[in-house]
Amino acid sequence: MTTKIETEGRVRLVTTPATITQEKEAWILHFPRFGEEGTHFHTYGLLTPYFKGLAEGRLMGTRCVNTKCPISNGKGELWLPPRADCPDCHQPMQWQEVRKPEGYVYAYTYVERGGAGLEIECPYYQIDVKIEGVGTIIKSYLLDRKPIKIGDRVRAVFRTGAQATHTCLDLGWELVE
Ligand SMILES: [Zn+2]
Repeated sequence: MTTKIETEGRVRLVTTPATITQEKEAWILHFPRFGEEGTHFHTYGLLTPYFKGLAEGRLMGTRCVNTKCPISNGKGELWLPPRADCPDCHQPMQWQEVRKPEGYVYAYTYVERGGAGLEIECPYYQIDVKIEGVGTIIKSYLLDRKPIKIGDRVRAVFRTGAQATHTCLDLGWELVE
C-alpha cells in the first residue's frame, strides 16, 4: 500500500515502505512496487554502507587511497554517490563519513510534474549540492518549498529508523537560514 510520509509541512514522499534483508555484508531491498506479486528485489551489494549510513543519519562517501592509482596517487577526493571500486585503478575504494554534510545549491530544477514512478510529491526542487571536502556534486531534493537561488546554503536531512525508506530518498536537504 502506498503511503505518504509526512515531513513537517515540507515535501512529502509518496512511496511504499520497503523491507531489508541481509546477505553476508549486503543489504537486499524488497520493494513491493506492484503489490504482493510484484516485489522488486534489489541488492545494494558493495554500496550497502552508503544506504546503512543514511538510515543511521550519516553520509558516507568513498575515496581512492591506492598509491599506485594513476589519477589519485593515493590521495583521491571523496566521492558521492560512492563507488565501491575506483574507475581509474579498479581497486576497492575506502569508505569515509562526510564530517559536515552541508553545502550549497550548485544547480536546481523546479519540478512541477514528475514522470511515472516518481516518489516525491510535486512541486519540489531537485537540487545539485556541492559539499565542502567532496569532489563530486550530488543530485538530491530539497525539502523546503521556498523559492531558492544558486548558492543558497543547505544541510542534509536524513530519514532514519522507522522513517527510513532504505533508498536514496533517505537523504534530502533543507535550507540553512
Ligand atoms: Zn584509484
